Amino acid sequence: MKIEFKKDFIERYSNLTSFDEFKEISLKPLPRTIRVNTLKSNVEEVKERLKDWDLKPLKFYDKGFAIEHKKKERRDIGNLREHFLGLFYIQEAASMLPPLILNPDKNDVVLDMAAAPGSKTTQMAAMMENEGLIVANEVKPNRIMPLGINLQRCGVVNTILTLHYGERMKGKFDKILLDAPCSGTGAIRKSLKTLQIYNTGMIKKLSYDQKKLIFNAFKLLKKDGTMVYSTCSLEPEENENVVNSLLENFDDAYLEKIKIDGLKTSDVVLDFEGKAFNSEIKKCLRIWPQDNDTEGFFVAKIRKNG
Ligand code: SAM
Repeated sequence: MKIEFKKDFIERYSNLTSFDEFKEISLKPLPRTIRVNTLKSNVEEVKERLKDWDLKPLKFYDKGFAIEHKKKERRDIGNLREHFLGLFYIQEAASMLPPLILNPDKNDVVLDMAAAPGSKTTQMAAMMENEGLIVANEVKPNRIMPLGINLQRCGVVNTILTLHYGERMKGKFDKILLDAPCSGTGAIRKSLKTLQIYNTGMIKKLSYDQKKLIFNAFKLLKKDGTMVYSTCSLEPEENENVVNSLLENFDDAYLEKIKIDGLKTSDVVLDFEGKAFNSEIKKCLRIWPQDNDTEGFFVAKIRKNG
């Protein structure tokens, strides 16, 4: 496949970061990473069973590991028996951050508004030790099946599945994860196709949809509840702009500062195409692929003031 960065992409990203560094890392394969599923196993057992593989701990999460075959003969970790058994989940390192930041516990009723294929649902279920309740929602019928299979494989029993438009859901929740549908410009290393389909019109439409989702998510949050908004996009319109809209529309929405030991972060974008954003947005987390050799991610932690 011919890899081409479009002119409007280059222009936009050159204003946001060092484009050469971004381009260089974007063309390198992502390190393979796994998360040990503590509902079925533990770090010692997984290390013991995967003796032919090098497991290098992630700097910011003791259940996450970069994994490589010791003799460099295999890359197909998805074919390992331990994967089929649900002892670990193949999950990109940065994608482990939103559940860590939301930090659900055993007493919580949690909504995962855009859940398929379930990497973050299964991570949250493990953090909750299979107690409390998770409502894992997905809008696309063909994505419900892999979500269900992943929950089953990982031994998750505290989760119910719903098939609904997130923006129309009802209920009240202690914690909400909105890992929103996005352009995926932070995940170019996983899918170079993103570069082919990139256009700024599509970004505007996604931003409009993300605002509908975040507004409803915030309405479903109990007073004093916490919510996390995340995307694997690096577009200000899908990130800072969406969070800014929430702050403009809801007086009881507050941002909490995100700090993760061992993770390099970058400055958020505080003005874009002539619009200045609320300076509170500095509390959000923006990481570029070149910061930690991961996907790019944006995460906001939002509290509803009681
Ligand atoms: N959280 C998932 C994980 O970690 O495995 C990844 C979620 S993916 C970024 C976004 C998901 O949102 C997709 O599965 C997509 O089908 C779903 N989606 C798109 N529009 C939606 C909507 N209006 N309501 C709920 N889910 C939606």
